[in-house]
Amino acid sequence: MPRVVTFHYTLLNPGGRVIDTSSGGDPITYLEGAGQIIDGLDARLRAVPAGTRIRVPVPAAEAYGMPDPAQVQKVKRALLPVTGELEVGAQFQAGEDRYAPVVTVVAIEGDEVTLDANHPLAGVDLTFEVEVVSTRPATPDELGHGHAHGADGTGHCQ
Ligand code: ZN
Repeated sequence: MPRVVTFHYTLLNPGGRVIDTSSGGDPITYLEGAGQIIDGLDARLRAVPAGTRIRVPVPAAEAYGMPDPAQVQKVKRALLPVTGELEVGAQFQAGEDRYAPVVTVVAIEGDEVTLDANHPLAGVDLTFEVEVVSTRPATPDELGHGHAHGADGTGHCQ
């Protein structure tokens, strides 16, 4: 029976630098196995009870995947939706759509710009420091919808 799990996390890169944290904000609530958090973390938290603090290493392949060379492409600078200076390392959305992928400038040669559309964390082994705040059985509604309805099950649909 899938659970609904509420947790706080701090995400560290292999050098131990904090990439992201829920500390100081709201904890994250998800339905197990529903793809609401990265698979490698979901799988490793399955049997973990509320009240537990645990360090969870997640290899890149089970986090944001490995970089795909096909996602690195050269384009003409004039075609980019960017005005002003461009520099290596700059990131921007590849299109107008708010769900358009974020691309990173990896090289600039004359009027050609090399863009990498891989997730910035692709290929990066991650470590999550997790505090499981609460767990409960999923409700039939949540199982039907494929997502959690908040920490107590009375929240609105996401
Ligand atoms: Zn729902």
